[in-house]
Amino acid sequence: MTEAESILARLSDIVGPSGVITGEELLGRSANWTRPTEPCAALALVRPRNTTETSAVMAACHAAGVAVVPRGGATGLVDGTLCAPDEITLSTERMTGIEPVDPLGMTVVVGTGATIESVQNAATESGLFFPLDLGARGSATIGGAISTNAGGLRVLRYGMMREMVLGLEAVLADGTVVSSMRPLIKNNTGLDLKQIFVGTEGTLGIVTRAVLRLRPEPAGYATALIACPGVDDGARVLRAAQSAFQGRVSSFEGLWPDFYQVMTAPGRATAPLSYDYPFYAIIEVECVPEESDRFLGLLEGLMGEGTILDAAVASSEEQRRGMWRIRDRVEHLNADRIERAFDVSVPLSKMDGYVRATLERLAAIPGCRAVVYGHIGDNNLHWNTTRLDPAGNAAIDAAIYAPLAELNGSVSAEHGIGLEKRGKLPLSRSPEEIGAMRLIKRALDPDNRLNPGKIF
Ligand SMILES: Cc1cc2nc3c(=O)[nH]c(=O)nc-3n(C[C@H](O)[C@H](O)[C@H](O)COP(=O)(O)OP(=O)(O)OC[C@H]3O[C@@H](n4cnc5c(N)ncnc54)[C@H](O)[C@@H]3O)c2cc1C
Repeated sequence: MTEAESILARLSDIVGPSGVITGEELLGRSANWTRPTEPCAALALVRPRNTTETSAVMAACHAAGVAVVPRGGATGLVDGTLCAPDEITLSTERMTGIEPVDPLGMTVVVGTGATIESVQNAATESGLFFPLDLGARGSATIGGAISTNAGGLRVLRYGMMREMVLGLEAVLADGTVVSSMRPLIKNNTGLDLKQIFVGTEGTLGIVTRAVLRLRPEPAGYATALIACPGVDDGARVLRAAQSAFQGRVSSFEGLWPDFYQVMTAPGRATAPLSYDYPFYAIIEVECVPEESDRFLGLLEGLMGEGTILDAAVASSEEQRRGMWRIRDRVEHLNADRIERAFDVSVPLSKMDGYVRATLERLAAIPGCRAVVYGHIGDNNLHWNTTRLDPAGNAAIDAAIYAPLAELNGSVSAEHGIGLEKRGKLPLSRSPEEIGAMRLIKRALDPDNRLNPGKIF
C-alpha cells in the first residue's frame, strides 16, 4: 500500500467511504468559484460529519504529515481553497445542521457548513434576523464567512462577521478541539480565543460549529437609487441619512457609471435612472413605513442643494429587489470578461482622488477595461478589470494597489489574502505586524500543515 492509499484508507475509516471523494468524482468539482473549469487538484476531498470526525481527520493527517485545506462553499475570491495534489481538502458540506433558534437570547448554534442563506432563513422563520448578506449567500458557508471575516451589504449597521460570532468550536492542526461555544455578548475571561479563528482563512484551525448573534427583524426598508455629482456628494448624503435615521442606514453602495451601464445592459437589471450622471449609489435605511415620508423629504432637501442630481425611490418590495439586482448580479462582469476582481479599502475622504487617478492609469493600459463599485460607506471599493497577459495584469495590479500604502488604505478590505494577494501583504502591513502573525501561526501549527502557503 502506498502512503497515499494508506492515509485514504484511514480517512475512510473515520468518515465512511462516502465521506472520501477521489478520482472522477473529485475532478467534477471545480477548484473554486473563480476557476470554474479547473478541477479540484487535491488527493481527496474529505467530508466529516461533525467536530469529532474532523478532529480524527486532522489527527490522522497530522500523524501522516499530510497538509489539509479547509473548504466551505469555495466562493472565496483570493484562491484560499486552492490545493496541491498531495493535500487533503476538508469540506464542511456535511456539517450543515442548524439548531433551534433561542428567541430570548437571540442566538443560534450552527454547523459551519450551513450556507449564509439557510441561516438567514432560519432566523426569519423565528421572527429574527441574521444580518450578514452578500451576493454568494446561497453557496457561501458560515465557516467561510467566519474564516474570511466576511463583510457584505450591511456592515454599516451591523459590522462584519466578527461582530456576529459569539462563540465557536475549532479543530487545530493536530486534532485538538478548542470549544468556546458560550452564547455570551460579554465574556472578558482572558484571551478571546474565538477571534484567533475569525479572518485567519483556515490557517490556524478548522471551524466546525458557531454560536451566532441574531437581531430583531427590521420593520421595513426605505431604498433609493440616487445620482450625485461625485463620490464626495455621495458621502454627504450618507452622513445626512446617518444622522437623520440615527445609525439605521444599513447599506450605502457606490456604483460608478461604467459599472451601472454593464449591470443594466439589455436583458439585465432595469435602469431606473439615465446614464449621464458621474456617480450613483443605492442607499437603504431600516425604518417603519410611516417614516418613508421623512426619507423622501431628506432626499428632496439634498436635491434642492444639488448634492443629489436625481433619485428613484423603491415603492414596492419588487422595485427594491430590482434595485439590488443592479448591485448584486456581478456574474454579468464575468460574462463581459471584466473578470479580475479587486477588493481594496480607501479612506472615504480620499476615495474620489484615488478613483479618478486609478481610472486614468487603467485607461492607459492597452486592452484594459475596468469598472468600479463597492461598499463605500465601509471604505470598500471593488474593481473589476479585463484579464490580460502577465505584463498587462502586473500593470493593472500596480495601478490599483501601488497608491494604497500612501493613502493609508488596504489591499484587501473583505476578501482576505489567500494565495492571490500574498505578495501584496507588505503594502498594507508592517514587517513587525507580519512577524507577529507568523509567530501565532508557528505556535498553533508548527509543522505548517493547515492551509499552507495561504496569507504568508
Ligand atoms: C458573487 C460573490 C459575491 C461576494 N460578495 C462578498 C461580499 O460582499 N463580502 C465579502 O466579504 N465577501 C464576498 N464574497 C466572497 C466570499 O463569498 C466570502 O468570502 C465567503 O464568506 C466565503 O465563504 P465560502 O464558504 O465560500 O468559503 P470558501 O471560499 O470555501 O473559503 C474561504 C476561506 O476560508 C477557509 N475556510 C472555509 N471554511 C472554513 C472552516 N470551516 N474553517 C476554517 N477555514 C475555512 C478556506 O480555506 C479559505 O481560505 C463574494 C463572493 C462571490 C462569489
